[in-house]
Amino acid sequence: MQFSLITSLVLMAAAAFPLVAEEGKKPLGYQDTPLVPGLQWHVHDGERPQPRVVTPGTFSTQDQPGKPPSDAIVLFDGTDLSKWQNQGWKVEDGAMIATKGQQVSVEKFGDIQLHIEWTSPTEIKGTGQGRGNSGVFLMGIYELQVLDCFENQTYPDGQAGAIYGSYPPLVNACRKPGEWQTYDVVWECPTFEGDKVVKPAFITVFHNGVLLHNRKELLGRTNHKKAAAYTPHEATGPISMQDHGNPVRYRNIWVRPLKGYDQP
Ligand code: MG
Repeated sequence: MQFSLITSLVLMAAAAFPLVAEEGKKPLGYQDTPLVPGLQWHVHDGERPQPRVVTPGTFSTQDQPGKPPSDAIVLFDGTDLSKWQNQGWKVEDGAMIATKGQQVSVEKFGDIQLHIEWTSPTEIKGTGQGRGNSGVFLMGIYELQVLDCFENQTYPDGQAGAIYGSYPPLVNACRKPGEWQTYDVVWECPTFEGDKVVKPAFITVFHNGVLLHNRKELLGRTNHKKAAAYTPHEATGPISMQDHGNPVRYRNIWVRPLKGYDQP
C-alpha cells in the first residue's frame, strides 16, 4: 500500500511538471553563458525579445497571384488604383497596364522589402530597348529595369533586372513575353547630410527567385546616357513604374517597411 502511495505521488508530480512548463516558469534559455559580443544578451538568452509572428503568404502561379505575408502593405491587389496617383493606367484582368505617364504610389517609403510582378506584352513588338520597356523606380529615383529580354539583346546595363545605367543583372532570368515574372527587392535608402552622401543606397534583387544583385551599392540616381550620381533627397520616396510606351502589365504589388527590423 505504502509503495502504491509513493508511486501515485510521483505520478502526480510528473503530471504537474508539464503544467509548470506551460505557464512559462521553465526558463527558455540561459543566463549563465557569455554575452554575445557587442550585445547585452547572453548566448541562448531566453529573455531576448521574441521575433514577431508573421503569417507567410503564398507564391504566385501563372494563373493566380499569390497572397502577401500578413504584415505587408498591399499597394495593388488587382482590383483598383486607390493607392496610386495616376488613375490613367488601365486595370484589366487583375493587372494594371502601363499607359499615359509614370505610375506613382501615394505612400512614400524608406527601407523596404518590395514584391512586384510584371509581364511584357504577349504581342512582340520592337527590339532592344523598344521591346516591353518599363521600370520600377525605388523612391521614384533609382530604376530597376523592366524589359522583355527573352531572346532580345540590348546593352547589358539596360536589360531586365539591371540597375539602369550602372549594373547589369548577374544573369538573365527572363521568362517569355506574356508570362508573369517576379521581382523581390530589399532596398536600403541612401542618407545625406547637406550635399554629402553619408550612406549610399544598397539593393538586393531576385528575379523569378534568381539572384540578380546581392546588396549592391548604388552609384546614384538613374540617368540616361549619363553617369549615375547622387543628389540629396528626402528620407522617403514613392514606388513608381515607368511608362515607356509599351503596355507592360503589373500585379500583386506589396511592401514591408523595414525600419526597426534590426534585432536588438
Ligand atoms: Mg525602363
